[in-house]
Amino acid sequence: MSHGFDLDGRLEQREAKDLRRHLEVAESVSARTRFADDPKGGPAEFGQEAVVFASNNYLGLADDGRVQCAAELGARTVGTGAGASRLVTGDTRVHRGLERDLAACKGTERALVFSSGYAANIGTIDALAPDVVFSDELNHASIIDGCRVGASETVVYDHCESDDLRAKMERRAAGADEDERWLVVTDSVFSMDGDVAPLSAICDVADEFGAWLMVDEAHATGLFGEGGGGLVQREGLSDRVDVQLGTLSKALASQGGYVAGDEALVEYLLNAARSFVFSTGLSPPSAAAAREALRVARETDRAAALWDTVATLRDGLEAMGYEVLGETQILPVVVGDRGDALELADRLRDHGVVAPAIRPPTVPEGTARIRVAPTATHTAEDIAQCLDAFRTAGEEVGVL
Ligand SMILES: *Cc1c(COP(=O)(O)O)cnc(C)c1O
Repeated sequence: MSHGFDLDGRLEQREAKDLRRHLEVAESVSARTRFADDPKGGPAEFGQEAVVFASNNYLGLADDGRVQCAAELGARTVGTGAGASRLVTGDTRVHRGLERDLAACKGTERALVFSSGYAANIGTIDALAPDVVFSDELNHASIIDGCRVGASETVVYDHCESDDLRAKMERRAAGADEDERWLVVTDSVFSMDGDVAPLSAICDVADEFGAWLMVDEAHATGLFGEGGGGLVQREGLSDRVDVQLGTLSKALASQGGYVAGDEALVEYLLNAARSFVFSTGLSPPSAAAAREALRVARETDRAAALWDTVATLRDGLEAMGYEVLGETQILPVVVGDRGDALELADRLRDHGVVAPAIRPPTVPEGTARIRVAPTATHTAEDIAQCLDAFRTAGEEVGVL
């Protein structure tokens, strides 16, 4: 008899399905860095320097001196860890300052920070305890998991299709209890397609049915709208979106997640969101770093350099004959065949460019792609190296 778990067997099954993943050590999080393939954790032998087009550190602030100093100051003046849940003794002035700034940036009464965006999604959906969630089919895994944990029922609507959302809400409304609590949830920027949700149309549909709307701005905060307030703010929808949520770990170069909304929402979540109540407060250096990154994003036009790079890369790749999806800082370069995508990513790597192949089942069959994500600190030389690599590697693999 065995009641064990045979993890080696499970890993082999993943290997056979081409789904086995491996860790790789990066020397730093800079736009140019070196990597070591050393899963056993011995002394890492770093390889040649490569240019990274695979990070969500979109504004390049994770190795910015101002943000590093803020993190250090947070650690020195407040401490390296919060030491307890915010509800016990882990609530500090760095947390409050960050939350005030986030609320101002988002145009909401208040904000609340969690230990990650993942925890924010799970805790918020679970605490709201919706009877039905209407969720975009390409929403992030943390939203899907939030629905699994907290929703009585989840209805998935076609990606970015507000008409399909309306049709599904109409169908579900037939015979439904008037008091049911309905939540519509969408990412604002989708990370695998680099496209944008039709937020205004989704707001209209949610309003028609009296449902609440929650928007995850993980890939938009710091980048879009006045002072990096995100797409909700740019579209003038701050008053119509009940829950604005996102992460501090992408453009804001730190760690943690946030929810922004009205007084009642924040006061309720700090009482009822289990991932907030039963988890140690965000570490003070993380809170201080995120606050400084938000300040830099708001007070300097940091995103302008990123948008220039995005335009140069998109134009260059399209001129070579590549199909590039989306309309944001995420550039999905479609290759089609999964084998070709993997080989192209390997060849790009040989030419010193790191950009991952994204394959089915993450994306639909026949749309395997290379996901190119530039950073505001990429230089003209980095961009030229990326384009040269795509031309040479594309010809080597035969996809051009
Ligand atoms: C990355 C991401 C998250 C998770 O945020 P973390 O802070 O990394 O846990 C949540 N939602 C979306 C849409 C994301 O892209």
